[in-house]
Amino acid sequence: MSESVAIVGAGVAGAAAAVRLAERGIEVDVYEAVPEPRPIGAGLLLQPTGQRVLAAMGLLDGALALGTRVDRLFGDTPKGRAVLDMSYRRFHPEAYGLGIQRGALMGLLWGRLRDLGVRWHCGAAVEDFQQDDRGVTLIRAGGGTARHAALVLANGSFSKLRQSMHVRQHARLFPWGAVWTVLPAPEGFPQIELRQRFRSASQMLGLMPVGQATRADNQRGINLFWSLPVAELTGWSTRLGLDRLKHQMSGLFPEVAPLIAGLTDPAQLREARYADVWMQRWHDRRVLAIGDCAHGMSPQLGQGANMALIDAHELAAEARGAWPQVFERYTRRRRAHLRFYGQASKGLTPMFQSHAVLAPWLRDRFFGWGGRLPYIHQQSIATLAGYKTGWLWGQLKL
Ligand SMILES: Cc1cc2nc3c(=O)[nH]c(=O)nc-3n(C[C@H](O)[C@H](O)[C@H](O)COP(=O)(O)OP(=O)(O)OC[C@H]3O[C@@H](n4cnc5c(N)ncnc54)[C@H](O)[C@@H]3O)c2cc1C
Repeated sequence: MSESVAIVGAGVAGAAAAVRLAERGIEVDVYEAVPEPRPIGAGLLLQPTGQRVLAAMGLLDGALALGTRVDRLFGDTPKGRAVLDMSYRRFHPEAYGLGIQRGALMGLLWGRLRDLGVRWHCGAAVEDFQQDDRGVTLIRAGGGTARHAALVLANGSFSKLRQSMHVRQHARLFPWGAVWTVLPAPEGFPQIELRQRFRSASQMLGLMPVGQATRADNQRGINLFWSLPVAELTGWSTRLGLDRLKHQMSGLFPEVAPLIAGLTDPAQLREARYADVWMQRWHDRRVLAIGDCAHGMSPQLGQGANMALIDAHELAAEARGAWPQVFERYTRRRRAHLRFYGQASKGLTPMFQSHAVLAPWLRDRFFGWGGRLPYIHQQSIATLAGYKTGWLWGQLKL
């Protein structure tokens, strides 16, 4: 029997877990469905937590060279009422967010995987698995099998493999999604803050500087995010059309006009759907779920990729002895942090993406005002920075 651990999915969670485990001398096989992984995906805000994990992998300098420092998050209404105003400096004088293109981050992780000599099977979708007391058998699309000592599922929110774990769980498609793209930053466009504009909770535009895709590319980008109900997402370009969409964007936030001048083809906009994933625990004997597969959430709090990096780091920290015990200890170690962010995401997202009236009204009246109180500001920024493990107290130690 192969003693190696199988990781299914080479996104942020799977690639980072493979790196951290391989660094500890553990043999790893990565199975990725896509025949040729390409550097695509939304711009990500890497929090101080995610940055710490990248530093531990020796990848932070590379990420800083490609990404852009984000010092502040600011959101307001068309009437100019500030809803969110958070500066990382208030969390720690040296703290900042790092806006980076997902492709740039993946390039760094995949490069490290190659350097470590991790076996990587592309175009290798895994359809099912069976486990017994001594290992796990993967069943590949097309019928081949592979035997491993343990299995880490990192194949995203919509994983079907997760359902073969004997763990209480549910995954609910969030009723709102988004279209997004990365556009070249026009001359003089602000590049140090994450900017959001809301009308109630039914319209939201987000802009975030995300740096460049590769070292060779000297064009710095801005990630543009436009919230849409899932029911309107499919076929939006024929129903709504690009011109009307751009009109809605500049109606909400006129300053976006020079940026969206570069948006000329509906194909530039990618659709994003997300699911709330809940699991009673993340392990089932020799199988563990990590990343979005284990705890997918809406991107409103900007935590998904950070959580994936932390999962990988904490798994490697527990990786000694028999796998069922490693996975059990991992679940205990991650519980408070993941539960807090799952609850915070569920509570906050309808205030920013929904047809609700009362929740955004309260948000507009009280968030800006509350945020000026030092305690509330401190708690909000600690939440954004990714460190909280409970509503009243508790801080993640990485
Ligand atoms: C619009 C948007 C904005 C976001 N913004 C932020 C942000 O600012 N900050 C942040 O931290 N997070 C953000 N996120 C969330 C973040 O992108 C995700 O949480 C993170 O990428 C999850 O990584 P993952 O590896 O768990 O899953 P995924 O990235 O979904 O990777 C899963 C991988 O598994 C592979 N796979 C699937 N099924 C199989 C199979 N059967 N066999 C083999 N391989 C398979 C897939 O091809 C894929 O490569 C955002 C998400 C969206 C949609």
